[in-house]
Amino acid sequence: GRRVVVVGAGMAGVQTAVALREQGFRGAVTLIGAEPHQPYDRPPLSKAVLLGKAEGSAFEVDFESLGVELRLGCEALGVRPAEHELDTEAGPVPYDVLVLATGAEPVLLPGTEGVPGVHLLRTLDDAERLRPVLARQHEVVVVGAGWIGAEFATAAREAGCEVTVVEAADRPLAGALPAEVAAPMARWYADAGAQLRTHARVERVEPGAVLIADGTRLPAGAVVVGIGARPATGWLAGSGIGLGPHGEVLADAHLRAGVEDVYAVGDCASFPSARYGERLLVHHWDNALQGPRTVAANIMGETPAVYDPVPYFWSEQFGRFVQYAGHHAGADRLVWRGDPAGPAWTVCWLRGDRLVALLAVGRPRDLAQGRRLIEAGRSMDAQALSDPGRPLKDA
Ligand code: FAD
Repeated sequence: GRRVVVVGAGMAGVQTAVALREQGFRGAVTLIGAEPHQPYDRPPLSKAVLLGKAEGSAFEVDFESLGVELRLGCEALGVRPAEHELDTEAGPVPYDVLVLATGAEPVLLPGTEGVPGVHLLRTLDDAERLRPVLARQHEVVVVGAGWIGAEFATAAREAGCEVTVVEAADRPLAGALPAEVAAPMARWYADAGAQLRTHARVERVEPGAVLIADGTRLPAGAVVVGIGARPATGWLAGSGIGLGPHGEVLADAHLRAGVEDVYAVGDCASFPSARYGERLLVHHWDNALQGPRTVAANIMGETPAVYDPVPYFWSEQFGRFVQYAGHHAGADRLVWRGDPAGPAWTVCWLRGDRLVALLAVGRPRDLAQGRRLIEAGRSMDAQALSDPGRPLKDA
């Protein structure tokens, strides 16, 4: 039978192996991962694992009974597509089909490499290094008010740390949400007893302090950097596999990587979305669950399956459950459902009269119904939509 080799043993790699077996693939499946740990899930790292409420977050997958060969602690170094060979630390690995699922790696704050007390939060090792920081209740400075920064700040406040979040932009989540939507979310920091400093560019990090461009010196027992992540694709340089502006593999609508018998899925790849009329690079868990099903179907099937999901993610921050579905652009029209100063509200994005995205805070029913409405592409009445008492599906 054919041999499928999957590179990267995170959510997308593991789900590819699982989906292949679920869909009846009988050939060999080898899953190769750089980290030494049993494959694990990342979302708990900034939540239960960080707070010590869960020991770890290993996937409950029995690789042996699935007939999946796991090679952990083994980094892939390159691909030679013409020879159908992957090069790894442990030597070359031949494949019939290769799946790239190497995820993303956090962006480093320039000049902080090797500075003691500066942390990232991407891996289980990172989370384990951060646990004692929380336990010692240090003064913590978080650089970046994105999703990770907000979740880390939440956990650190819960652990009793003093928390300052510094953000270069004028608001939290500046890359993801418009000012109008970010404004009520910015207030959550203060409500939780964390200090949010916007327009605050880090000049330098010294042992024990963070220096801001305006001259402020913030004492810091620890610094946590959450300023984004980039696809982990440096190892593909020179392979002939095309990379996009963020270093992502430019997959096609079938998640093929542009060279024969190679696919790419999860955080490491972008794909063209006909639904949204643009290429999407999604760094969220649900994409690493759904994409692998398409990859497995395309490895198995004769008629290529198209990957064009309604993206979805959630975040747990400052005691709120935040969910987002779809994809919006700057020109889309905002419609509010409920009072953004209150504990639960939703904001919808309309393109023409169609719902293209929504953000729901503490309103999981809106999210579930909205996600289906986006999928169906149904026309909506903006006036009815703005009434939070009326079910979204009846608007
Ligand atoms: P990854 O999980 O990054 O896995 C890739 C794996 O490949 C890694 O283990 C890496 O070591 C390995 N690898 C890389 N290069 C090589 C190589 N050359 N050779 C071999 N192996 C290699 N999303 C949500 O929707 N909601 C959340 O609440 C949420 N919380 C998160 C919290 C944290 C702390 C983090 C870090 C992420 C969170 N995410 C969340 C995002 C979500 O976890 C990711 O989208 C998901 O993990 C992507 O899966 P992946 O398999 O594509 O990549």
